[in-house]
Amino acid sequence: MRILNAICLSVLLLFSQCSNAQKKDTMNEGHKNNPYYSRTDTAKLNVSNEEWKKLLPKEVYEVGRNAETEYAFTGKYWNTSAKGMYYCAVCGNPLFRSDAKFASSCGWPSFYEPIRENSVVYKPDHSHGMDRIEVTCGRCDSHLGHIFDDGPPPTYKRFCMNSVVLEFEPDSE
Ligand code: FE
Repeated sequence: MRILNAICLSVLLLFSQCSNAQKKDTMNEGHKNNPYYSRTDTAKLNVSNEEWKKLLPKEVYEVGRNAETEYAFTGKYWNTSAKGMYYCAVCGNPLFRSDAKFASSCGWPSFYEPIRENSVVYKPDHSHGMDRIEVTCGRCDSHLGHIFDDGPPPTYKRFCMNSVVLEFEPDSE
């Protein structure tokens, strides 16, 4: 009887491991070519742009690694309000919760705070004759957008992000 129990337990364990692996695969779908992509690994990445160029879709590379900006009102998330999590489209790092997203008229997805303090990194940006603060991913250092002081409470900050470097995962039921 004990042996039978042990066999049943092993089979159950094996089954649950298989379904976990399957879940992980679905989550990382679309990133099979990107060995650095992970939604759980927080270790910082140091990958050259040359390598990123081979791994990323062109539009993700241009914004994330070349600090381009998508046109206002064109991205997939500027006008959305579904509940869930926003991840870095380059490396999978969790960045923002939908709770911190607010309706902004600027044409880009806007948040008042990141999910963790070190999810993102801030850098002075003097490009294009402007003094701005650039926001990059805390794990892969890809360009995400800029931060401004005209956001709503409680932080009064506006993280003005590019949709193309974000990836939204809706909350499961
Ligand atoms: Fe990243």
